[in-house]
Amino acid sequence: MEYDVIVVGGGPAGIAAALGASRTGAKTLLIEEYSFLGGMLTAGLVAHYDPVQQIEVSGIAYEIYEKLKSAGAIKEFDQNNEPMPFNYWQGGCGIDSEYFKLLAFSLMKEANVSLLLRTVMINAITDNNKLIGIEVHNKSGNQIIKAKCFIDATGDGDLAAYSGAEFFEGYTEDGQCMASSLCFNIGGVNVEELYNYIENNPAELGNHPTQGKYIRNVHKASIIQGFYSLIEKARECGDLSFSLPESGIGMVQLPISGTFHINAVRLPNKNPIDGNDMTELSIIEHSYVNELYKFIRKYIPGCQNSFIMSIAPQVGVRESRRIKGEYVLSVEDIEKGVNFADSIVRNKWAHTDMHSGTGMGWSFRFIEGPFYIPYRSLIPQKIDNLLICGRCISATREAMASIRIMPICSEIGEAAGVAAAIAVRNDCVPRAIDISELQTVLTNYGVRI
Ligand SMILES: Cc1cc2nc3c(=O)[nH]c(=O)nc-3n(C[C@H](O)[C@H](O)[C@H](O)COP(=O)(O)OP(=O)(O)OC[C@H]3O[C@@H](n4cnc5c(N)ncnc54)[C@H](O)[C@@H]3O)c2cc1C
Repeated sequence: MEYDVIVVGGGPAGIAAALGASRTGAKTLLIEEYSFLGGMLTAGLVAHYDPVQQIEVSGIAYEIYEKLKSAGAIKEFDQNNEPMPFNYWQGGCGIDSEYFKLLAFSLMKEANVSLLLRTVMINAITDNNKLIGIEVHNKSGNQIIKAKCFIDATGDGDLAAYSGAEFFEGYTEDGQCMASSLCFNIGGVNVEELYNYIENNPAELGNHPTQGKYIRNVHKASIIQGFYSLIEKARECGDLSFSLPESGIGMVQLPISGTFHINAVRLPNKNPIDGNDMTELSIIEHSYVNELYKFIRKYIPGCQNSFIMSIAPQVGVRESRRIKGEYVLSVEDIEKGVNFADSIVRNKWAHTDMHSGTGMGWSFRFIEGPFYIPYRSLIPQKIDNLLICGRCISATREAMASIRIMPICSEIGEAAGVAAAIAVRNDCVPRAIDISELQTVLTNYGVRI
């Protein structure tokens, strides 16, 4: 089997990379370890598609948003007359992640992307800094698959790391990676009762002890986050034994009435690229979900008849490897809005969303944009025919905390896919392509750069 472009990892970045490469004429294969695509959006049940980026989000990230919207697979909140920039909790939408799986398959089919599912990439075959092939494992056993160009969209930077690329890890800099969280969805919520409670107890929500008040209008808020006094009460009664993040319990309303996504549990001091740590995380966080769900039913008004609809197939990983590339994007670049000559992503504004790795702390900071991502952050040092995209691109921790949200990962992925196709077409390595050609193709696809 030989392809022009192989994309490893079918999350928001990998989906866009495969579409970008195939639509630009490359014979493309997308490899994914699950039997469905979506990455954190589906396997992690991360249901919140960032609001603010939608205003400026473009290309495949916007196409996905529009398609979800036209299918009724989005719970959107009217943001008219909200002061700008409105914040993360106030705006945005809840996504039906099951529908997203169907959409992802139809997008792949339309673009003629070949798929290899339930397949894990386990090794890289290199020769003098050139990536020749990858070794994958599935029910057929181990196989080697070759391509002219590869894209690492694994989130964890597995392919780049296996190829020998250097990388940063959160915990090598300051002893921690952001904590991982097991998300779940509940149904059967009496929304009116829940919102009445919140309206009558405004201090319960978005009133973060150190970060200030975020939610202006609960009826417009896509994320309702807090429930501080209820948590306190349950603790006193012995109904909550584990620690919750200082932001409290996050609930995102989903398109089907009475259904919510819950993001709250976490276990500090674990390494997301360590098999034993991930096993421990999975076991312990499932027990936390069990306890939290009982808490939700007993304490949160409107949730007394709720039930668990689904628990994410995997613990959601916020941070692991960041591959060292030709350029390391910094938060100062984002703050100053440095407009790189090789910019491939432009977004209106950013936020750094850092969750503690050693405790339950959390810091959140808004950065007014625009900000840009350079193509060089997608090119690993040394390895020639490999591009990286999504949350593992070359960036500092704080910059990664800004670019890791799904629409931006998708925008980065699209650029990587188009760049790989151009490299194959011009018979050169990705770092040698003509940047203006890449930018022209992206612009023609409707991407703002
Ligand atoms: C708890 C939590 C809450 C979040 N909240 C939000 C939010 O509200 N809004 C937002 O926009 N973002 C949010 N994020 C961030 C966002 O979900 C991720 O940063 C984003 O999904 C990263 O996209 P990606 O495509 O780079 O990686 P991923 O989404 O992780 O996708 C990687 C894909 O690669 C596959 N893969 C990995 N290794 C291999 C391998 N070796 N072989 C084969 N396949 C492999 C995986 O199965 C997966 O499908 C949140 C993340 C978490 C964990």
